[in-house]
Amino acid sequence: MGIVKSALVLLGPPGSGKGTQAMQLARVMGLVHISTGDMLREAIKQGTPLGLKAKSFVDSGKLVPDEVVIELIRDKASKSNGTLLFDGFPRNLAQAKLLDEIVVVKGVINLNISEKVILSRLTKRRTCKQCGAVYNLETNPPSTTCRCDKCGGELFQRSDDSEEVIRERLETYRNATMPLIDYYQKKGLLIDIDGEGSIEEVFERIRNAVSGIQ
Ligand code: AMP
Repeated sequence: MGIVKSALVLLGPPGSGKGTQAMQLARVMGLVHISTGDMLREAIKQGTPLGLKAKSFVDSGKLVPDEVVIELIRDKASKSNGTLLFDGFPRNLAQAKLLDEIVVVKGVINLNISEKVILSRLTKRRTCKQCGAVYNLETNPPSTTCRCDKCGGELFQRSDDSEEVIRERLETYRNATMPLIDYYQKKGLLIDIDGEGSIEEVFERIRNAVSGIQ
């Protein structure tokens, strides 16, 4: 048995800003950012056996089977040092229970956002192929439409950001992930944060809420 690690979890529907806030929070607070969505997209891009298993689920907005995601998480958590920040994991109760076996969850940041804002954010989201930076064509636009301001990489729209797949992802969130709010509330770990507003405003709310935790 290794040393027990501490972790924070970012919870919220697709489009609530988990990825954007996690990247910033990890940088400012020196946390290890673990995004299952990013890891799965990378595995799919590389065409690994795990990526091949995950592709059809990610493309259709369904959850990738637990055993696939759990394999990724176990491996990553065991290789990482410091406090971990989970983004997009856990997504259902079985994953939450697994997480409780491998780390001590210190706090769960629950980003609240209306469905109207989700749809608007996700259909306008563009991501850099090279460095993963995320833009929004309306609220956080790049200076040129198709290039990343940070590295010049090409911007693309995630294949699961079409309106049809977004609706499927929201349905999956409601059925599988929402019960986690209750799960963490009962454990006294839930921290509700208003996820609407600018990136900076939401970040300040999160930072104030977690400053005493680690
Ligand atoms: P995300 O980048 O977090 O929005 O995740 C994109 C897609 O990856 C999801 O719609 C799922 O298909 C898959 N995915 C990400 N995290 C998980 C997870 N913890 N469990 C199952 N599937 C996941």
